[in-house]
Amino acid sequence: MVKTNRLFRPAALLTLIAICLTVEATAATSDSSTYHLHDEVQVRRLAPDIWLHITWKRLANGYPFPANGLIVHTDSTSFLIDTGYNPAQAAILLDWLEKVRQKPVTLALVTHAHDDRMGGMPALLQRKIPVLANIRSLREADRHSLTAATHYFQRDTSFSFGRHAVHAVFPGAGHAPDNIVVWLPRSSIFFGGCAVKSIRSQSLGYTADADIESWHKLMTMLQREYQTAELVVPGHGAIGTKELLLHTYGLLESAIGEHE
Ligand SMILES: [Zn+2]
Repeated sequence: MVKTNRLFRPAALLTLIAICLTVEATAATSDSSTYHLHDEVQVRRLAPDIWLHITWKRLANGYPFPANGLIVHTDSTSFLIDTGYNPAQAAILLDWLEKVRQKPVTLALVTHAHDDRMGGMPALLQRKIPVLANIRSLREADRHSLTAATHYFQRDTSFSFGRHAVHAVFPGAGHAPDNIVVWLPRSSIFFGGCAVKSIRSQSLGYTADADIESWHKLMTMLQREYQTAELVVPGHGAIGTKELLLHTYGLLESAIGEHE
């Protein structure tokens, strides 16, 4: 019995438990952790003040399809880029930011008028959150029966949100006639939205509203203008680096080649 006790060494066991708890606590707050707020809503920290949000929709073929958006924090508020697919998903993000992070959303921006960007609009309007969009999204939202944004800019807009400069730019028609991109120079994060494909995308995806030739031109411009981007966020799928811009350009080259 004595031998067994010695083998057991309760003090060592307690130390081991303490180490395990520490590791778990560290993992839970680690920057690379993904937090599951709901089956269809996840968030992941990309930089001290910046989070990626991922929402999911089941496609007609039964496969769940993710969409990316961003959250930028000040010390006490949040700026939301894109809303998730529907008001319920948007409400989950808004509640988490308000109640858990204690940084309620005071401003939002939508990057074009498709449901993966603007489907959650009603939840934002219900909470009287001002929502910025490119003026081209007004007509497109109407065409797609989406709830319109509240404030519009002509081509580009730049402003500060907390410690971050935000540059929202209409680079020309591409995936959609109204698609905009967002540049956050302080953290060198480039949000390409649906104008940029993930590295695993083997096609341009949904192109019913796309202008392929214009998209091809704007990818040349984006590669030149955002050379310093360290992180590139596509509309769907895994985030990456500048290689996503080159990859999207390659997909467009192939698409144009097929039509010639
Ligand atoms: Zn779209």
